[in-house]
Amino acid sequence: MRLLLVEDEARLAASLVRGLRADGVVVEVAEDGPTGLRLARELDFDVIVLDLMLPHMSGFRVCQELRRANVWTPILVLTAKTGEFDEIESLDSGADDFLTKPFSYSVLLARLRVLLRRDVNERPVVLEADDLRLDPATKSCARAGVDIALSAREFSLLEYFLRNANRVLSKDEILDHVWDPDFDGSPNIVEVYVGYLRRKIDRPFSTNSIVTVPRSGYLFQCGA
Ligand code: CA
Repeated sequence: MRLLLVEDEARLAASLVRGLRADGVVVEVAEDGPTGLRLARELDFDVIVLDLMLPHMSGFRVCQELRRANVWTPILVLTAKTGEFDEIESLDSGADDFLTKPFSYSVLLARLRVLLRRDVNERPVVLEADDLRLDPATKSCARAGVDIALSAREFSLLEYFLRNANRVLSKDEILDHVWDPDFDGSPNIVEVYVGYLRRKIDRPFSTNSIVTVPRSGYLFQCGA
């Protein structure tokens, strides 16, 4: 999951970034409205967490401008203010959900999962491909009923594959959605992690889910 956090409170932003990264989420932070708007328009995020009270441009405006520019990335609005007015205004400005500060981190994560499911067509709570099952809520994975232990990065990579099953994904695309933006190592890291995944989800089961597409990237095949 690649997430844009638009939040000017440095301490809140830092603690969210720490938590989200530990959960395998790729996070970029914008500290004011115009930067958030620019990043959201230029880059491809899976979800945006947007504070309302921001320097230079309010969260309302950012939201309206994005929808006006046909950017339909799911948006969860964070607001310190309470009251029906803000909630209605947030939703009317094109936001998908809102959360009032202070909020619980696990509630934020649960809401983000809902938004990701809602993103394209209907998304199942548990991701399934043939006999492979991945549950983003419990971070658990199993194949043919056998539990598989995955690291946070392996889990994020497999989740990205499952959400994009039967589609060729380039290494760059995978890096953008699964690794931190400040990752400056070699794109070959993708190859390394695909290797780890294959050793866990394919080899023991004599399956071949993750196919290398020469010169293009990888394809997670299911239903074949
Ligand atoms: Ca603020």
